[in-house]
Amino acid sequence: MTLHIDTEMLVGDRLEKGEEAKEKVLNPRTGRLILDVAEASTDQIDRAVAAARKAFNGWSMTTPSERSAALHRIADAIEGHADGFAALEALNCGKPINAARNDEIPAIVDCFRFFAGAVRNQHGAIAGEYLAGHTSMIRRDAVGVVASIAPWNYPLMMMAWKLAPAIGAGNCIIFKPSEQTPLSALKLARVLAEILPVGVVSVLPGRGETVGNYLINHPGVDMISLTGDVATGKKMLQAASKSVKRTHLELGGKAPVVVFDDADLAEVVDGLRAFGYYNAGQDCTAACRIYAGKKIYDRLVADLSAAVSTIQLGNADDTTNEIGPLISLRQRDRVASFVERAREQPHLSVTTGGTVMGEGGFYYRPTVIAGARQEDEIVRREVFGPVVSITPFADVDQAVAWANDSDYGLASSVWTRDVGRAMATAARLRYGCTWINTHFMLVNEMPHGGLKQSGYGKDMSAYALEDYSVVRHVMVKHG
Ligand code: NAD
Repeated sequence: MTLHIDTEMLVGDRLEKGEEAKEKVLNPRTGRLILDVAEASTDQIDRAVAAARKAFNGWSMTTPSERSAALHRIADAIEGHADGFAALEALNCGKPINAARNDEIPAIVDCFRFFAGAVRNQHGAIAGEYLAGHTSMIRRDAVGVVASIAPWNYPLMMMAWKLAPAIGAGNCIIFKPSEQTPLSALKLARVLAEILPVGVVSVLPGRGETVGNYLINHPGVDMISLTGDVATGKKMLQAASKSVKRTHLELGGKAPVVVFDDADLAEVVDGLRAFGYYNAGQDCTAACRIYAGKKIYDRLVADLSAAVSTIQLGNADDTTNEIGPLISLRQRDRVASFVERAREQPHLSVTTGGTVMGEGGFYYRPTVIAGARQEDEIVRREVFGPVVSITPFADVDQAVAWANDSDYGLASSVWTRDVGRAMATAARLRYGCTWINTHFMLVNEMPHGGLKQSGYGKDMSAYALEDYSVVRHVMVKHG
C-alpha cells in the first residue's frame, strides 16, 4: 500500500497549508524525518473560530437524528479507510501495526457509533408545575465553540473521544492535534470537510505555545477541552479564568495496582505484562505502580520480570511486535533518567530492562523496578514509559493509604479472589476507575476521567454528552 500523507489543515471550509513555521514530524522507529507540517497562523485560527461561531447557530439547532447521521458517516469513513488510518498511526507514533489496526481503529469507529446512538437517546428531568400556573422544563443545549487539544499517545482515538460527544451535543470544534502527531488528524480533516457543514470542525496543527496558546485565549472560544499534562491543564485554567470559559481536563495518571496475597499469580503476571506496557507505557491508565502483599511479593517480582523480558519490540517484522518505541528522543531520555536515578538508590533493583535499545529509534526496554518505597520518585511521578515499580505492603490499610497517596486520581486496580475484599477496597480508592482482576479495559458506554490532579470531566459514555452541554431551565406561564 502506498501511504498518502495529507499536510493541509481544515480552516472552516478550506483545506489549506499552514502559514507559519514548519514542525518536523519524526518516525520514532528510526528517528528520521517523515515530513514537515506548517502550523496555523493567527489569521488561520481567527478564520477557523469565526467559521465555527457562524456555523454554531445552524448546527446547534439540527436534530439529534441529523447529528447522529453525521457521526455514523464519520464512523463509516474511518472504517472504510481503516488500513490508511492505522498505517499513519503506526508511522507517526511507532505503534505496532496490529495494535493500531486491530485495537485502536475499531474502538475509534465504535466511539463515533456509540455517540451516534447516545445523542438520540438522552434522558433528563421531567417537565412539570413547580410553581402553580407555570410549567418548567429542563433543556440540555450545546456550549458553543470548543477548543479541543489532544496529546500524542493515541492521536486519532483522542480526536474521536473529543469530537464525537462535542459534535453530537451540537457544538462546533477547533481541534488541535499534538505537534508531534498531526498526521491522522489531517487525514480525518478531509473526511470531516466532506461530511460536516462548513465550520462545524476545523483542524489546526501547531505547537502548544503558539497555536494552542492563541486558541485557548481566543475570545470566540467558549470551552477548552484538553487531554495532556497536569502542567498544561493548569495553563488551560489560567486562560479559562480570563473570560470564564468552561473546561474539560483529562490529565496524567499514576495508576496503583493492589495485588493481594490470594490473587491468581499467573493472571496478575499476564495482566501486568499487557497493561503495564501497552503503547510502551505511554498511557495515562498504565498499570505502573504495583503494591503487592508480602506473601506474593517475591514470586510476583520473579515471574513478572521473566514475563516482561519476553515482550516483543523493535523486530523487523512489525506483526510480531507487541509494543513500539517511545514517541521522541526527549521522551526516551526522560524515561531513561527516571531509571538511572532509581539505580542510584541502593534499596531499588532493576530486575529486567533498564536500557535503551537499537540505534536511531527511540526504543526503551520494558523495565521492572523492585523494592520500591512509597516516597521514591519512581512511585510518585508519572514516567509515561515502559517502567513498572513494585512495592510490598503489610496490610490492606497500608495498601489503600499508599494507593491513594498520589496527586493523580485516574485509574486503579485490585487483584484478589475474595469478592468482598475486592469491593471493600474498590470503595476506598480515590480514582475515576477501579478495575477488579483486570486493568485498562475501556468501553465506549462507560466513563473515563479522573479525580484530583488527573482532572475532571468524562470522556466516552453519556456523561461526556453532559459535559459538552449546558443545563437550561425554560418556564412557561399558563394563560
Ligand atoms: P502535553 O500537555 O505536553 O500536550 C498536550 C497538548 O497540549 C498538545 O497538543 C500540546 O501542543 C498542547 N499544549 C501544550 N502547551 C500548551 C499551551 N500552553 N497552550 C495550549 N496548548 C498547549 O501532553 P503530551 O506530552 O502530549 O501527552 C502526555 C500527557 O498527557 C501525559 O501527562 C498523560 O498522562 C496525559 N494523557 C492523559 C490522558 C487522560 O485521559 N487522562 C490520556 C492521554 C494522555
